[in-house]
Amino acid sequence: MALCHLLNTLYPPHCLACSTPVRRAGLLCAACWTNTPFIDGLACDHCGTPLPGPLEDAPVHCDDCLRIARPWSHGRAALVYSDSARRLVLALKHGDRHDIAAPAARWLARRCAGLIRPDTLIAPVPLHPTRLFQRRFNQSALLARALAQVLARPACPDLLRRIRRTSSQDGRTREGRFENMQGAIAAHPRHAARITGRHILLVDDVMTSGATLAAAAEACFAAGADHVDVAVMARAKRQI
Ligand SMILES: [Zn+2]
Ligand SMILES: [Zn+2]
Repeated sequence: MALCHLLNTLYPPHCLACSTPVRRAGLLCAACWTNTPFIDGLACDHCGTPLPGPLEDAPVHCDDCLRIARPWSHGRAALVYSDSARRLVLALKHGDRHDIAAPAARWLARRCAGLIRPDTLIAPVPLHPTRLFQRRFNQSALLARALAQVLARPACPDLLRRIRRTSSQDGRTREGRFENMQGAIAAHPRHAARITGRHILLVDDVMTSGATLAAAAEACFAAGADHVDVAVMARAKRQI
């Protein structure tokens, strides 16, 4: 405790998204909290995108999910990918801000608590080894590990792997994104037995078209998963 106090005095904790001092590490300051688009009301049951209207008992779906077949059952997102949320995602991904993973996992855990089963296994969407080498870490694996801790369920960081290199999804049409990802992900043979008959919760930082998560979910089913849900830190609003 004394050491903690000393560290706080030497390095006072500051807001996750700006330099404003805060009470303890892992918090947003009041201004950034207001500017962070948390999803806490009615949302699409497949992709987590917020929808207008009061909460409903029956699941509701957004226009995208009514048009595109999602191979998974339920999807949850903590944030809309804009404003401070976008900065937090980019800082986690490119800025070596690993400290963002734990608070993001707490926000996400609140959204997906109702999906958790006794046999849930939490796994990240994999990066291709070349990209993993360049970036040195997989931000989705950091999120998956932190989420597993909050939800007290096991995580398997290399449950899935990329079996071919895909070019960037940027600038592609929605159809192009799905084509680009088709068959790009498979269960790691070492873990195939862990997937059989099990509930898999896939974790990614951002869902845009959902093509990468679809490829990952299909890989789980190909390896015998009983049920697949997805959880993302942020849901990008329709731009493509
Ligand atoms: Zn702030
Ligand atoms: Zn949706």
